[in-house]
Amino acid sequence: NASLAELDPEVAAAMNGELARQRDTLEMIASENFVPRAVLQAQGSVLTNKYAEGYPGRRYYGGCEHVDVVENLARERAKEVFGAEFANVQPHAGAQANAAVLMALMNPGEKLLGMDLAHGGHLTHGMKLNFSGKLYQVASYGVREDTHVVDMDKVRETALAERPQVLIAGWSAYPRHLDFAAFRSIADEVGARLWVDMAHFAGLVAAGLHPSPVPHADVVSTTVHKTLGGPRSGMILAKQEWAKKLNSAVFPGQQGGPLMHAIAAKAVAMKIAATDEFKDRQARTLAGSKILAERLTGADVAGNGISVLTGGTDVHLVLVDLRHSELDGQQGEDLLHEIGITVNRNAVPFDPRPPMNPSGLRIGTPALATRGFGDAEFTEVADIIATALAAGTGADVPALRARVSKLALDFPLYDGLEDWGLLS
Ligand code: PLP
Repeated sequence: NASLAELDPEVAAAMNGELARQRDTLEMIASENFVPRAVLQAQGSVLTNKYAEGYPGRRYYGGCEHVDVVENLARERAKEVFGAEFANVQPHAGAQANAAVLMALMNPGEKLLGMDLAHGGHLTHGMKLNFSGKLYQVASYGVREDTHVVDMDKVRETALAERPQVLIAGWSAYPRHLDFAAFRSIADEVGARLWVDMAHFAGLVAAGLHPSPVPHADVVSTTVHKTLGGPRSGMILAKQEWAKKLNSAVFPGQQGGPLMHAIAAKAVAMKIAATDEFKDRQARTLAGSKILAERLTGADVAGNGISVLTGGTDVHLVLVDLRHSELDGQQGEDLLHEIGITVNRNAVPFDPRPPMNPSGLRIGTPALATRGFGDAEFTEVADIIATALAAGTGADVPALRARVSKLALDFPLYDGLEDWGLLS
């Protein structure tokens, strides 16, 4: 029963290094968050030992009486939080949830219509190297070149021409709401099923700060670890009529034994998602991204060829357009990394640069909101980012790093974690 530090000092040292990095820097990758202590405890628990193929009450293994309780709690809470008729909480991650959704909704060789990856869609929505692009025929829609907003007339036109079996609404990099009612009506018109992938904005939906896709879609999938702030994992919600097909598509269709420790952590995350504190955090997330968008459309950044796609944001992220800046996405990401802010480079629609070195940055506020940031801190961090990007290669790195360090120190992360026994 040696501790982690005793048994495996190399892994323990890397974990300590990662904890220090999370504490000392400002995390602004739009898909990341910080889970609370209770979620860490659930994930680092003896539930990792248990095989439980099947579903509560109908398992293929004995000894499932306690994990059945956990899975039922996760399912009921997920349904309650999102007002859904059905929930499957077993997908190991978002990609597995999406594989199961497509398996339930269509047959290999049939056609899906989703948002182009280069315009903000996800790999699992039909990218050619992904299972979704290999098993299914793929048609895609994108954003308008002048507004960078999804053009619903174009979506309808494409759907009428392509006649897909599944219409997908959802994104990994898009700063505005999608019109779920319009997607529903197009799906109905062409006889397609509507699948919404709310992985990014699920936390905002849970808090009532983003239109809910649940009443409109046949099936809704999500990750649990982005705005929702839970463990890395996936989840599927749906109308009851899809329950049997979806359950069968997850197990035995895509997966074997569910990760019961992750499902316990999902149950905890769903309990938290029903609280007022969670709603407050999502409100600060949204306020923060609006502050960031406003600052990044200021005269000084505009004068340096920097702007924000669609001119603002309705969600937890801002897409910075560097097509006319001296910095490309890689340089922007590296510069912010140097001053202690972590973001990721991203293609912008109609990007003249290649995907590995694109012209955009995706900057999100969920992790900092979880850390406790409010308007004042988001105003400061927005000014730091704007000042850095506007100055480009001439940025005063030490001065900006000092401002970042002060914010990080003022908002301690995982205070007392050393005493929780997770590392030592
Ligand atoms: N769907 C969307 C819209 C996403 O943005 C992501 C994650 O990036 C996923 C699905 C996949 O989630 P995971 O990385 O957990 O497989």
